[in-house]
Amino acid sequence: MKVAIIGSGTMGSGIAQVAATAGCTVKLYDTKTEALEKAKQALEKILSRLIEKGRIDDKEKNRIQSNITYVARLKALADADLTIEAIVENLEVKQKVFQEIESYQSDEAIIASNTSSLSIASIASALEKPERCIGVHFFNPAPLMPLVEIVPAVQTSQQVFDKVFSTIESWKKVPVKAKDTPGFIVNRVARPFYGEALRIYEESFAGLPEGEAGFATIDWAMKEFGGFKMGPFQLMDFIGNDVNYTVTETVFEAFYYDPRYKPSFTQKRFAEAGYLGRKSGKGFYDYS
Ligand code: NAD
Repeated sequence: MKVAIIGSGTMGSGIAQVAATAGCTVKLYDTKTEALEKAKQALEKILSRLIEKGRIDDKEKNRIQSNITYVARLKALADADLTIEAIVENLEVKQKVFQEIESYQSDEAIIASNTSSLSIASIASALEKPERCIGVHFFNPAPLMPLVEIVPAVQTSQQVFDKVFSTIESWKKVPVKAKDTPGFIVNRVARPFYGEALRIYEESFAGLPEGEAGFATIDWAMKEFGGFKMGPFQLMDFIGNDVNYTVTETVFEAFYYDPRYKPSFTQKRFAEAGYLGRKSGKGFYDYS
């Protein structure tokens, strides 16, 4: 199967690795050549580490790498059977890219979005053939996280849904059908995990000494005693404060400003300041 990935950031590069490992030929596209170079180097590092751990050999590393081509023109994706978009979480930008890619591809080509929170119906509405559009929501890091939410829009054809569902299974992932409602399954259930943690961090009561219930304390409690693999602040830094904030904002708006999903000013300022988390070297924690 010929797979195209639009956006070679955190998610796009991971999804490319998954598809290439499954034996697909993958074209990975980004508007920024630095992002393509970064993705290439990151894959080299990941696969070398897997060799060190004895999980793969040189031959397998070469096979995976040779399945991926890094391209700087969207038109180069014209022959793809399945395109998965993983660019900035912005409806207008995604719609524009979807329209352009559709103009290059055959009528049978499937065009999917890895959006975390936007409505698939609204992305699909930009296409001439909206029945070819579907949500394919991987989790971060895509090569390690088994779950993938498959989100048909009201316009999506059954044939497209079936094809994508079985493709994701053949990539050794666990697909789950999710409804096209804000945040789908996991991101909706997870909103309070981030939101309430941020609220506790922001609240100050008379008599509560500064530093109590700070972000590191909250993370420690949730990890050591809450049974979570990562605390909420570690996870926000891992996801990216820009991405995580935007998802919360979209879910908040989509639920008619339900206060349960109200975004945090602290996280907004972090995103504005470039304190994005691991990917920028600084977020709630320092990674430099
Ligand atoms: P990212 O910022 O790491 O990467 C986005 C990439 O897209 C960048 O390299 C950027 O140069 C590129 N890009 C931007 N506009 C483009 C365009 N018009 N054409 C081509 N490339 C373009 O973002 P990410 O974390 O990989 O998120 C991408 C998508 O995946 C978003 O929709 C996000 O909501 C979703 N998502 C993110 C996570 C996560 O944990 N980060 C998890 C699941 C889904």
